[in-house]
Amino acid sequence: MKVVVINSGSSSIKFQLLEMDKEEVLATGLVERIGSSEAQVRCTYRPGEQTEEKHIQSINCPDHRHGMRLAVQLLVGPGRPVADPGAIAAVGHRIVHGGEEFHQPTLISDEVLAAIEKNIPLAPLHNPANLDGVRIARELFAEVPQVAVFDTAFHQTIPPEAYHYALPAHLYRQWRVRRYGFHGTSHKFVAGECARAMQRPLEELNLITLHLGNGCSMTAIEKGRSVDTSLGLTPLEGLVMGSRSGDVDPAMHAFLARNCGMDIESIDHLLNNESGLKGLCGMNDMRDIHAAIAAGDTWAELALAVQTYRNRKYIGAYLAVLGRVDAVVFTAGIGENDPVVRARTLAGLEPLGIAIDTERNHCRSAGPRRISSDDSRVAVWVVPTNEELAIAREVRALLTPA
Ligand code: ADP
Repeated sequence: MKVVVINSGSSSIKFQLLEMDKEEVLATGLVERIGSSEAQVRCTYRPGEQTEEKHIQSINCPDHRHGMRLAVQLLVGPGRPVADPGAIAAVGHRIVHGGEEFHQPTLISDEVLAAIEKNIPLAPLHNPANLDGVRIARELFAEVPQVAVFDTAFHQTIPPEAYHYALPAHLYRQWRVRRYGFHGTSHKFVAGECARAMQRPLEELNLITLHLGNGCSMTAIEKGRSVDTSLGLTPLEGLVMGSRSGDVDPAMHAFLARNCGMDIESIDHLLNNESGLKGLCGMNDMRDIHAAIAAGDTWAELALAVQTYRNRKYIGAYLAVLGRVDAVVFTAGIGENDPVVRARTLAGLEPLGIAIDTERNHCRSAGPRRISSDDSRVAVWVVPTNEELAIAREVRALLTPA
């Protein structure tokens, strides 16, 4: 079963072709800087287990339609991984915001497209680009089933006391202002992989999952279901991210408007693009931050301290939410690769039953690995995420019900 996974963003399209009988990646690619005459196209083919062919070019790509055409040309045709579009069983699309309508991956129809469109006010940057990808893919793969996989869907099990903000009720009734949460596909995937590695049914496990990449979020998972998560109405709330502030006093907006001459657009930009690690120390890549700390940069040290302190505070909150926790799970770019962030996030939590083993924490592995000490009551795991595979699995599960 060959599945194409598309992640159509505002200026890029990521794509992957997977053979889902063996969960093998046949090709993976990226069209970047869509809208420019010097867009970058990259594609890596994996015709055999050990072999890789890279394809990189710079090209004029005025819009998403061109971008999608390029992607399809790289996947389908003579000499490509798939000879004709008929060999593709399904296309899976990452959709950022499914609002309250979508709790599951969903086969795309005109009605589903209209419902996703209705959620544009909730994700004005993401949903239009996601929708462009879907519309063009429906033209290019006319006979192939298309499936929407929502970043928000996994969090639709969060109970009302955790998803409501203490705001006038009409804002929820009329505008659906509430917590939605994001990175759901990743949290669900690593929870499942962790359960498998622990050889326990997911339905029995209480987990705290930390997705720490450029965007960061934490989820409290009770018996396999999301019961709280740190991202909110938009992907800004909660943890300290690469360039996003995470939690701030909501009165910050009024303060900045009244005292700093900022309007709502510039405040939104500040909190989403100029804050977080980048705001504190000018760098948003954790590898650069470590190098700067080694060179004596005190703001870089502060950025690391603020991020890991916030992580620890949320872990405390989710320990209280869940009562019993079986495992804490780290994933994504920082979570998978940064032993310092993991150690500082969990520092001092031994009295709460969480203790990592220094040597295990510094090992590397391609698959899931346990990094807690043998006497840690709560296990600590590093589990690599794989959103494309997660989407392709959701597509397979939807189209081939057990
Ligand atoms: P996203 O998918 O949100 O763009 P990723 O999950 O790929 O992000 O994470 C990207 C981030 O991971 C980088 O900005 C960097 O901070 C961090 N990162 C990647 N590799 C390492 C590493 N070896 N050590 C520490 N941090 C890393």
